[in-house]
Amino acid sequence: MNTDVDVLIIGAGPAGCVAASLLHREGFKVRVIEKQRFPRFVIGESLLPHCMDYLQEAGLLEAVAKENFIQKNGAVFHRDGGTCNFDFSAQFTEGWKYTWQVTRAEFDLALANAVKDMGVEVLFERSVTSVEFLDSHATATVSHPDGSSQNVTAKFILDCSGYGRVLPRLLDLERPSNFPVREALFAHVTGDHRPEGREEGKIWACLHPSGAWLWIIPFSNGRTSVGVVATPEIFAQFLGNPEEQLRAIVSTDPSAGPRLRDMQLAFAPQRIVGFSCGVKQIHGPRYALVGNATEFLDPIFSSGVTLALASASRAAKTLTRELRGETVNWQADYADWVMGGINAFRAYVAAWYDGTLPDIFFNAGRNRDIMRQVCSVLAGYVWDKSNPYVTQPERALPLLSRIIKSQAGLVTTGT
Ligand SMILES: Cc1cc2nc3c(=O)[nH]c(=O)nc-3n(C[C@H](O)[C@H](O)[C@H](O)COP(=O)(O)OP(=O)(O)OC[C@H]3O[C@@H](n4cnc5c(N)ncnc54)[C@H](O)[C@@H]3O)c2cc1C
Repeated sequence: MNTDVDVLIIGAGPAGCVAASLLHREGFKVRVIEKQRFPRFVIGESLLPHCMDYLQEAGLLEAVAKENFIQKNGAVFHRDGGTCNFDFSAQFTEGWKYTWQVTRAEFDLALANAVKDMGVEVLFERSVTSVEFLDSHATATVSHPDGSSQNVTAKFILDCSGYGRVLPRLLDLERPSNFPVREALFAHVTGDHRPEGREEGKIWACLHPSGAWLWIIPFSNGRTSVGVVATPEIFAQFLGNPEEQLRAIVSTDPSAGPRLRDMQLAFAPQRIVGFSCGVKQIHGPRYALVGNATEFLDPIFSSGVTLALASASRAAKTLTRELRGETVNWQADYADWVMGGINAFRAYVAAWYDGTLPDIFFNAGRNRDIMRQVCSVLAGYVWDKSNPYVTQPERALPLLSRIIKSQAGLVTTGT
């Protein structure tokens, strides 16, 4: 059957833009439907070096480079005055040694504009509200701002709707996350006393004495993103309105407190509750879920955008083969590969919250070679099968923690 487009993409976030670009470059007719008007605020501001590979592959790296975002050379973890300083120049996997900290309003707009400039149809302020999948094609109902709606037919639908989770909701694919409910409270601030030189753009993750942790993400526009992640029970220990809570947690952190002593909020703090979510399956006849529409783990290792770009790239390549008439095994070629990366990060997120990773990070006995392998995971290279800290983290991390603890005391300075 003749359809309006080959591929309908729901959402013009990072996942949608990378998928759109790759499919357009293969000669397919692509339409992107985006609910909001860009630029718009969204959280998820710290990229990982592996993102650069996917931006480059999709022909989008140059558009992002023009935004002059601050260079991110690594990640520094803090606890009780001790630090563990990862520099992406010292990693195991051959790959990018830096990336950027991005204000998402500008990052996402740059991507969407670049995709439009390639000739892809990107329609803003339109929302996909229902879908129907038939043997011959798929139909999506698209609502317009004036209240009218239109049906669009496609050979395939990629759901890149992120937190909108369009197909998980419409097709009853939602599955609760294995992680407990956590909340994030965050704002952009001024008055950040940043470290200098190579250290300026690194993300800080500070483990607060209460069990909460904070992120500090500096931008090139002079502002800094500051956020706290904790369970509702931990947040309840801090009284007051959201700004008072944020200030109380920041000011009592031994590392974040001094750095942010002159912090002024650029907007009232925002809160997201219960961000972790899962799905029963990430593909089906004539559709695939991509990026945050699949599963979202946790912000601790800034993995969200990297997983969004990686899954978009993989989905676009798998779909290209299918649309060319090849027989494709979506489970093996797409789902298993994507879940491999998600599961590697899942093991690290679990090890962060159960104390295994902090035990490793803040111990003087940590081994430089092993830290290089862990650094590659933190750089997003979670599909590098030659890295034992990618392939067997559930076994390797607890073992490493036991060995390290049996050797030396706590570190008090960074390396
Ligand atoms: C507290 C917190 C902190 C985070 N920090 C980081 C970080 O530092 N680094 C990182 O990499 N990730 C981070 N993330 C994750 C990151 O935000 C996401 O992983 C990332 O935005 C996913 O990109 P995406 O393209 O899949 O979805 P999105 O960026 O959410 O884009 C989806 C788009 O789809 C559109 N849409 C939704 N519904 C519809 C509809 N019905 N019709 C049409 N369009 C629709 C939306 O308007 C949106 O523009 C964080 C997440 C949280 C909760």
